[in-house]
Amino acid sequence: MEIFKQILHKIKEYDTIIIHRHMRPDPDALGSQVGLKKLLQVNFPEKKIKTAGKTEPTLAWLAKMDNVSDDDYKNALVIVCDTANTARIDDERYSKGDFLIKIDHHPNDDIYGDIAWVDTSSSSASELIALFALENHLKLDDYSAKLLYAGIVGDTGRFLYPATTARTMAIASKLREYPFNFAALARKMDSFSYQIAKLQGYVYDHLEVDENGAARVILTQELLKANQLTDADTSAIVSAPGRIDSVELWGIFVEQENGNYRVRLRSKFIPINEVAKKHDGGGHPLASGANAYSTEEIEKIYQELKELAKRH
Ligand code: AMP
Repeated sequence: MEIFKQILHKIKEYDTIIIHRHMRPDPDALGSQVGLKKLLQVNFPEKKIKTAGKTEPTLAWLAKMDNVSDDDYKNALVIVCDTANTARIDDERYSKGDFLIKIDHHPNDDIYGDIAWVDTSSSSASELIALFALENHLKLDDYSAKLLYAGIVGDTGRFLYPATTARTMAIASKLREYPFNFAALARKMDSFSYQIAKLQGYVYDHLEVDENGAARVILTQELLKANQLTDADTSAIVSAPGRIDSVELWGIFVEQENGNYRVRLRSKFIPINEVAKKHDGGGHPLASGANAYSTEEIEKIYQELKELAKRH
């Protein structure tokens, strides 16, 4: 495939490569970013390869970020993984390099980069990085395989969501051949703290579900603080409403320090990303994010979700 060659050609051309991904990273953002870094370090040990962005405390066990100076961007190749739009790139120096490559699996609403490899049929950005490695016959090591595997597991809900394809499984199988501690990773990714277990209980207790399966729950700052939880911790319970058979699609409204709400939208089969787009957000058809700037907007979003569920 031509795009693999073009990207590899650019990688070979540059001595410094800086890899970015989206803000508030999840395992796929980190898996693709740091998995790519490790992959390139194994194959091109003479190059300076760094990862930019903030270390996410809840995922520091998986990967930590490097210190990247402004100077590092001089004549650098910048690769941005798993990030649909420039506003969500962590950090904003991504444009300071000499050449920019986007590698992503979200709908390509914001086209950026000198080269963009966007495959919306891919389960995850990590799947794309692994595919890139396999197609170019690059060497992987335990750590890069583990990161990419973690990214795929994260974005597919452990091979549950419909974006899981035969290719996803085949790639995961290849990654599984590397002797990383698979059982420890699987267990770690399925574990949460007691506080999060209690939050999950709260979600099930307070979930509002209409007759067509549209559901919502609001998580206030007060609730999060009382349980020593952060916004990032809510990622552990986003999929919880989907375990209920009568729930079709749902919104989790997480109040932020500034009083606005981060809206996490999920759906089993009915696309919800058009609702996200109307409310300062976007994302995948079945997993999107948006923002609500008032309680009226929360109501409006829930109304729109209800209408979607009713229409289908
Ligand atoms: P989240 O609920 O934050 O895990 O987001 C789910 C998906 O929606 C992610 O894959 C993001 O790509 C996308 N997303 C979340 N928030 C936004 C936003 N504000 N703008 C665009 N896309 C978003």
